[in-house]
Amino acid sequence: MQPDVLGFEYPHIDERICTHCGLCTVACPVLNAPDEHGSPREEPQALAAWANDALLRQESSSGGVFGAIAADFVAKGGVAAGVRLNLDQRRAEHYLSTTVVDLTYSRGSKYIQSHPGTIYNDACTYLRMGRQVLFSGTPCQVAGMRRMAAQYAGADLLSTVEVICHGVPSEVVWQNYLASLETRYGSKVMDYRFRSKFPEGWHGYDTMARFTNGREYVRNHRQDAFNAAFLRDYCLRRSCYDCEFCSGNSVADLTLGDFWGASPSLDDDKGVSIAVVRTARGRELLEQCGRLRHTVVSLSVAQAGNPRLTTGHIAVPAQRETFQRVLLEEGYEAAAKRYLRPVPLGRRIASRAYRLGSRVATQVCHWLKTAFSSNKRGRVR
Ligand SMILES: Cc1cc2nc3c(=O)[nH]c(=O)nc-3n(C[C@H](O)[C@H](O)[C@H](O)COP(=O)(O)OP(=O)(O)OC[C@H]3O[C@@H](n4cnc5c(N)ncnc54)[C@H](O)[C@@H]3O)c2cc1C
Ligand code: SF4
Ligand code: SF4
Repeated sequence: MQPDVLGFEYPHIDERICTHCGLCTVACPVLNAPDEHGSPREEPQALAAWANDALLRQESSSGGVFGAIAADFVAKGGVAAGVRLNLDQRRAEHYLSTTVVDLTYSRGSKYIQSHPGTIYNDACTYLRMGRQVLFSGTPCQVAGMRRMAAQYAGADLLSTVEVICHGVPSEVVWQNYLASLETRYGSKVMDYRFRSKFPEGWHGYDTMARFTNGREYVRNHRQDAFNAAFLRDYCLRRSCYDCEFCSGNSVADLTLGDFWGASPSLDDDKGVSIAVVRTARGRELLEQCGRLRHTVVSLSVAQAGNPRLTTGHIAVPAQRETFQRVLLEEGYEAAAKRYLRPVPLGRRIASRAYRLGSRVATQVCHWLKTAFSSNKRGRVR
């Protein structure tokens, strides 16, 4: 694999040693039709879900559902593949957990493309040994894992969980941003959360960094430069702007994301996941897990709050090219100054007031609806 200037890796074939065996093309999920092996596909069903463990939920990006399912899976003797942050190497990477303790590193989304390393081969090795494997990742990674398993190990023991995927931002941009924070705070980052529920709750979407000198950086997504680059789509991998894996072509057993648009009765601002069940195995993972609660919700409400459940298209912003040119030619500070400024205070206050107002209005509507329907039931009796 060879990285481009933004750190996105692409396969490179060394023609001097390639034997043209074709194994790489057979396993490729882009060159081949979706893999049909594994549990038969069902009509998708949406559920709101939360982990029972308060700490797990607090440290996860939405409801902590992946952590709960994976803990159950591993406790029953399975092996789970998730993503951890490696701050020494400044990257996210896939790894395998065989214990519940190992799983804690996979809590929380790392909004950069993860390095798979040897994960696909390692997972296949466990499958060939007869062990159950739970693989989690972006939809394209899950598609890759499914093809690898189908070709080289067998899909019967493989379960897959994908995240709803907005796209993966560049790790080079993130590394530059981290270096800039370290200069500003005069110290090395020793802990970093792309998204924390502290102090502003799930909707606050805060970024948090702790430095070795004891200082702390906390900003919500409107004020943080890396989130600006991510959410303004300035540095996603090229394939993420037109992604065939986010267009309803999922091959996973279960899809997990944030349940934006959940009704107030489901949303206590501590995080709620939307889980889309796609196969009998996905249903089993969710329903047989004693570590979480769930309730069926409308798929169309979930889709309305989360466009990536139905479309793989994102318009490429006009600033993408210039942002990247300035970044590469003049450096990160110049690019951040010009393109990653925080949303102005007035707009931040207005949008907070709007969010608060709409939550209050939804809650009032919910109360009125409940009061009206119980009044009507009373009159019928
Ligand atoms: C790059 C990216 C983009 C996302 N975009 C959206 C979106 O547009 N809308 C939405 O609703 N949700 C999105 N999510 C998913 C969301 O952030 C939560 O992960 C999801 O709601 C599940 O939350 P959880 O609380 O169950 O588990 P969490 O503990 O938050 O999630 C952990 C799971 O995410 C996996 N993971 C973490 N980082 C990565 C990574 N870099 N690559 C692959 N897998 C990773 C872990 O292995 C684990 O399976 C995205 C996640 C990622 C990583
Ligand atoms: S897997 Fe086979 S075809 Fe692909 S690069 Fe290696 S040797 Fe060449
Ligand atoms: S948006 Fe599509 S191509 Fe990009 S990481 Fe997600 S699944 Fe893969």
